[in-house]
Amino acid sequence: MSELRVGTRLLQAGRNRTEPGAPFLAGPTFAAPFFFAGDDRDAQYTYGRYHNPTWTAFESALADLEGGETLVFGSGMAAISSLLATALEPGDVLVLPDDCYYTVRVLADELLRAFGVDVRPFATTAMAVDADFDGATLVWLETPTNPGLDVCDVAAVARRAHAAGALVAVDNTTATVVGQQPLALGADFSVASDSKALTGHADLVLGHVATADPVWAARLRAYRTLTGSIAGPMEVWLAHRSLTTLDVRLERQCTNALAIAALLERHPAVRMVRYPGLANDAAHAVAARQMQRYGPVVSFEVADRDHANRFFTRVQLVTEATSFGGVHTSAERRARWGGDRVSAGFIRLSAGCEDPADLVADIAQALD
Ligand code: PLP
Repeated sequence: MSELRVGTRLLQAGRNRTEPGAPFLAGPTFAAPFFFAGDDRDAQYTYGRYHNPTWTAFESALADLEGGETLVFGSGMAAISSLLATALEPGDVLVLPDDCYYTVRVLADELLRAFGVDVRPFATTAMAVDADFDGATLVWLETPTNPGLDVCDVAAVARRAHAAGALVAVDNTTATVVGQQPLALGADFSVASDSKALTGHADLVLGHVATADPVWAARLRAYRTLTGSIAGPMEVWLAHRSLTTLDVRLERQCTNALAIAALLERHPAVRMVRYPGLANDAAHAVAARQMQRYGPVVSFEVADRDHANRFFTRVQLVTEATSFGGVHTSAERRARWGGDRVSAGFIRLSAGCEDPADLVADIAQALD
């Protein structure tokens, strides 16, 4: 199927169209044990912590898009922590962006350091240039970063990291596999929280890891089975159903994000705006080389906390909520959480699928 464009492949991915009378997408299989006769454990489904036909269908859909074997996990953090635990041993060096998703930094600082992993932080913008990869085991990237939206050149980082003998993993949550394909850019692992744009309906928590190396896939599978960091079949089925519309959703979301970013760029109440799709953005040149879509997230800064909170009381089409990537436009003042190096007036906004003119008019009146 790989010669078809992604918008078409999303409709076919992981579906069985050969069995007469089969539904377009078989319903979720709810099972702890499966009927299992004889001794050949590999020939069939045995127990729900090991495997599940609903996972198999979704994983084969993602594998087609990612370009590598894919494993689904119970959340983005379960996918990330499983990969880190599988790839790293005490004494290993993890190169980590100091501006990546907050919880990943906490995990590295509080858990990995305690296990004896040497965590070496660098800015995302330094990764392709002068971050020190000497002796590194794993280089972690997140591009675009959440919430700062800095971008790094994945292919350039992969060349530097591989030359130093390190593996490369990319957290691709913000872009999704339709917006950017880390494995094709040279990364060893593509990781994502599927709680965001990949599924896009703000109704589930899920994550995945993809790798083109069957040995690493087998290790990750064994780790998942051993630790039980599995996903429920209902969530996986909903994710597979939502995957069908990913290209259509992203098309509208990215159109809206760019229109909002363009408004923010010229509005006097806005002190700073970041969106990799903006021609003037510091990340645009690299983003244009490696991304097919620039994603739904726009970050901007107003004067202070009061201005930000006033924006939320006035805006009508933007739901104040954390997370991003859903069909409803949402935003939050990131400093309310602590943890990110952002100013009090920093807002992360995720463009949804509303009509672009309505959305831009609403945001404009709230800022005015
Ligand atoms: N990676 C990024 C970039 C995220 O933004 C998030 C969640 O916000 C995660 C990973 C973690 O995903 P989850 O909430 O599905 O565990």
